Amino acid sequence: MRESIVKLTGLSKRYGDFAAVAELNLSVNQGEIVGIIGHNGAGKTTTLKMIVGLITPSEGTVDVMGYDMQKHGLKVKKSLGYLPEENPLYENMTPAEYLSFFADIYGLPRDVTKERSTELLDSLKLDAGNKLIGELSKGMKRKVAIARTLIHEPELLILDEPNSGLDPLTSFFIIDYLKKLRQKGKTIILSAHNLFHVEYICDRVAIIKQGKLIVFDTMEAIRKSMGKREFEIIFRSDEPLDYERKDDNYFLKTPHIEEMAELLRKISDRNWALVDLAIKQSALEDIYLDIMADEKAT
Ligand code: ATP
Repeated sequence: MRESIVKLTGLSKRYGDFAAVAELNLSVNQGEIVGIIGHNGAGKTTTLKMIVGLITPSEGTVDVMGYDMQKHGLKVKKSLGYLPEENPLYENMTPAEYLSFFADIYGLPRDVTKERSTELLDSLKLDAGNKLIGELSKGMKRKVAIARTLIHEPELLILDEPNSGLDPLTSFFIIDYLKKLRQKGKTIILSAHNLFHVEYICDRVAIIKQGKLIVFDTMEAIRKSMGKREFEIIFRSDEPLDYERKDDNYFLKTPHIEEMAELLRKISDRNWALVDLAIKQSALEDIYLDIMADEKAT
């Protein structure tokens, strides 16, 4: 069994009577990518900030690598990399100067900083020459912020909407980059609004609604318990049949595997021609929209 690296127990954050996060229980294992999704204002940022110790919980505990963040947060600070949703950068520095500035804060030796900074700028394709951060595009600035999050080689990354506002190509580059970090054993907790990316990259997904955790599971389990599956068979026969027909093709669309299997047997027994067989599964986006539309899920 894999080791739990982050454990949230009964975690709540209240502002007066309003609960931004309510009694959250969630455990993240070493080496996995967990995606937190939910509407605007659902409590994602508040949760991530409580994990890194930037917001004090009203109730409950955050345990990171075995340490209670409220009591021993400093002990794990060097193992954490936090990327805020909005990341003001020092616009008058070059990316390399900026990384070196943060490396100094973490107490990295100069030669290590130089090596890591070159490696990060290279792998993130951040070829900015001598340009200052203020002169860079939004995508490049986000890459600088990500590089800053990684300069001290943290074990755990907490990323708040890592690719918000980026074009599709840059977004995918970053998503793929995160996948590579997982291969290196990093643990990543991220929030995102692009559910296609979440589905593509995350081992487990947490869905938050009005501060409450309503689903936390693997994509496979979420699809199995909440998704819809439909089989579509297209075939041809010279016989007049009681199936939907368009031009020369007959169609069957059914969510029932038995019905699909029975038709496949008939196609084989009667020598009809199978044109196509497709299995369509709900994407995370469909499932998410169903959950959000279902008031009973609150
Ligand atoms: P988004 O997707 O828009 O970034 P989010 O899921 O990250 O949203 P949070 O930023 O965590 O949501 O906010 C959760 C709720 O808590 C929101 O209703 C927000 O207005 C409220 N909130 C956050 N900070 C405070 C604060 N300092 N005082 C009062 N309410 C707050």
